[in-house]
Amino acid sequence: MENELTKVEDLKKTDKALTKVAVAYGDGIGPEIMKATLKILKASGAPLSFEPIEVGEQVYLAGNTAGISGEAWEIISRNKIILKAPITTPQGKGYKSLNVTLRKSLGLFANVRPVSALHPFVKTNFPNMDIVVIRENEEDLYAGIEHRQTQDVYQCLKLITRPGSEKIIRYAFEYARAYNRKKVTCMVKDNIMKITDGLFHKVFKEIAHEYPDIESNTQIIDIGSAKVAARPEQFDVIVTSNLYGDIISDIVAEIGGSVGMAGSANIGKEVAMFEAIHGSAPDIAGQKIANPSGLINAAVMLLAHLKQTKLADSLKNAWLKTIEDGIHTPDIYEEKSSVLRVNTDEFADAVIERLGQEPEHLKVSVLNEGTGEIQIPEYTRKVAKKQLVGVDVFIDWAGNNPQEIGEQLQKATSNSLKLKMITNRGVKVFPNGIPETYCTDHWRCRFVKQQVQLKNDTPQYLSINYSDVIDLLVELQASDFDIIKTENLYEFDGQRGFSLGQGE
Ligand code: NAD
Repeated sequence: MENELTKVEDLKKTDKALTKVAVAYGDGIGPEIMKATLKILKASGAPLSFEPIEVGEQVYLAGNTAGISGEAWEIISRNKIILKAPITTPQGKGYKSLNVTLRKSLGLFANVRPVSALHPFVKTNFPNMDIVVIRENEEDLYAGIEHRQTQDVYQCLKLITRPGSEKIIRYAFEYARAYNRKKVTCMVKDNIMKITDGLFHKVFKEIAHEYPDIESNTQIIDIGSAKVAARPEQFDVIVTSNLYGDIISDIVAEIGGSVGMAGSANIGKEVAMFEAIHGSAPDIAGQKIANPSGLINAAVMLLAHLKQTKLADSLKNAWLKTIEDGIHTPDIYEEKSSVLRVNTDEFADAVIERLGQEPEHLKVSVLNEGTGEIQIPEYTRKVAKKQLVGVDVFIDWAGNNPQEIGEQLQKATSNSLKLKMITNRGVKVFPNGIPETYCTDHWRCRFVKQQVQLKNDTPQYLSINYSDVIDLLVELQASDFDIIKTENLYEFDGQRGFSLGQGE
């Protein structure tokens, strides 16, 4: 440790050796916990320098709906590393979430949230839990592509991509290796979303093969989340898509008993951002009683990311020792088990006093040499033969008898594409629907080439041209059908690239 610090002192003499970090002081308790965290970082001898950026409430209220100034973007693109305190998104129309803006604009594809119990020093029902949730951060339902299509129906597109899945899943395995983790669990719902979640699961299985040293398994997200809530000790690293990850990482933080104490990293190819998982806590802002632990843990992750493993361990161990010594801010202070009730600054000073010490009861942090920035290879697209075999035409129709719309559609069309079936909210209602199925005004009408052949009971689709689709649409429009949208049906290397209707 001493050698490392001496080396760091040497490095500090030349400004060039310092990694510049863009620092967002945030709102509410943000400035208080950031001041405390920077004080600790400086005392630890971390070879960092800090450049403040303007983001958050004041920027929003000055009329910038994204909450981030142009100058802040410049500093971020120069420095590539951000330490961010929580910010307050003002209530009202038009303000965009700064977090989502930063994640998407900067390509921060991986959201990493480690949560481990600090039993018996911080109350939890799960003394042995130690989980890292790695959540895909850029796509899924968070693409934000939504439409109202009829009087009754609204849709949100769920986009799962192969490059996005490969990146996050490989990151999870690389993280497991770098941080000495034993198991990666994938959470999906591919029993229902066979194509989108099916892709995520398939990529997981492909990549897991490349990491035989790490145990891997998959759970369906519903029962998987229930098991996390009931028996979190059974999980190690969890990798999942954006929405599931959002939910499950909050469950993990909550049951860890340490929402105010967990840090998180948002990792991209070029840029990385580190922050506490909690918000700006306006209810206690200005009182200097906030717990800076979440941001301190984010700073530990920042140091590890910069391959400053010894410094990361030193900071983490000093923090663990402080918690273990019962020096607690009011949010975790307990008459019975705590020793000293401290404010934000006093907590930071206590951590600084313990730099170089290790906890005696909690698990000592020992990162592998070489842990740090994880390199993900460039994506190589494998091109499959893509063939158009049909079209789903979505129609707004106010009637409620599927037989009626089915017959009207059959009458209206005379070209080579024929109506194969109609679904309503995914359930086949024509031909041969059942009267109990509730129907909205949103009808998905599947047209394919007249002769669909069967091979081993599986329909073999015949290829069509897009001009067939256009001819069909012209006929439908001539018969006054209200076409909302079309979705082309493709096969890729002969594999169906679309789901069947329920009951098709
Ligand atoms: P919050 O996390 O700010 O507060 C929830 C509760 O936890 C409050 O009682 C608060 O006092 C307490 N708390 C949170 N952090 C604490 C700490 N470090 N020490 C002691 N107590 C702490 O959640 P909220 O009240 O729902 O949100 C407040 C604001 O924060 C909102 O404007 C929200 O949009 C924003 N927010 C920002 C981020 C971010 O920037 N990453 C994340 C979440 C919420």
